[in-house]
Amino acid sequence: MDESHPRKLYIPGGRVLEVTTTTGCIVGCAYCPQDKFAARQRTVSDVKHLSFEDFQRCLARVPRAADISFSGYSEPWQNRNCTKMVELAYARGHAVRIFTTLVGMNQRDLRRLRALRFRVFVVHVFDDGEYMNSRLVRKKYLDLIRQLVDADIPSIQFLVLGEVFPDLAEIIPAGTLVRSSPLISTAGSVDRKLVESQQPLTGALTCTEARQYRNVLLPNGDVTLCCMDFERRHVLGNLLHDSYQDIFEGAIFSKIVDRMNGMSGFLLCRMCERAEPKQQVH
Ligand code: SF4
Ligand code: SF4
Repeated sequence: MDESHPRKLYIPGGRVLEVTTTTGCIVGCAYCPQDKFAARQRTVSDVKHLSFEDFQRCLARVPRAADISFSGYSEPWQNRNCTKMVELAYARGHAVRIFTTLVGMNQRDLRRLRALRFRVFVVHVFDDGEYMNSRLVRKKYLDLIRQLVDADIPSIQFLVLGEVFPDLAEIIPAGTLVRSSPLISTAGSVDRKLVESQQPLTGALTCTEARQYRNVLLPNGDVTLCCMDFERRHVLGNLLHDSYQDIFEGAIFSKIVDRMNGMSGFLLCRMCERAEPKQQVH
């Protein structure tokens, strides 16, 4: 495929529960507001890692029609139970999505993952150090990437923002690499020196990817609106106490829907690159 038709990441739509397995991310990409999430989350909870038992309790409340995505506001494999959680979601009949840098994953995890099938498996590839902490790319990490490439996982996609770390460029087949579009402000949360926030939208709007149904589970069971809500601006409920249906029938979600339809009041979507004005029917 030539440069004028760059490959694009294939991410299917539908209902998704993203899982943030830990508070804080050691990868520390410059374009990611995960430090804002960690700071905000610590003010409401001292639970750093989502426990397997709590994940099990939350998952039991989620209908099978919702995909479970191991991604969220941190690198999922910083939690040592991540593979076990993936296996549980899979065994319960959910389609499983994975977004990982592989940091924290080991060869045993990879062997276990190879036995499963994924709807999406995206590897966020280390860049040449421009935005990512490439000191995490050591021999063990390179060996793991080699094994992952050899594993030939059918749904696998490799994604890089910027230039690939040189040692990785030799391992990852060029044809499988997706180069991402320009950086976004993540609804105004990213460092403004890196990306300018967009002018807030007014009036009725729509989420072009319907991400109001792709919510994020946090280590303490709280559920936030979507992958842009690093600062916990819209906490819809808590899956340790509320049913999945309650979350969408509750006052907070109803208010979000009203505000998307033009009602006044704070709405994160107004600052978000994924939102667009709703066409008015006259
Ligand atoms: S983009 Fe992902 S890997 Fe990078 S800091 Fe954010 S959560 Fe961590
Ligand atoms: S418009 Fe942005 S903030 Fe709103 S639901 Fe979609 S992705 Fe989330």
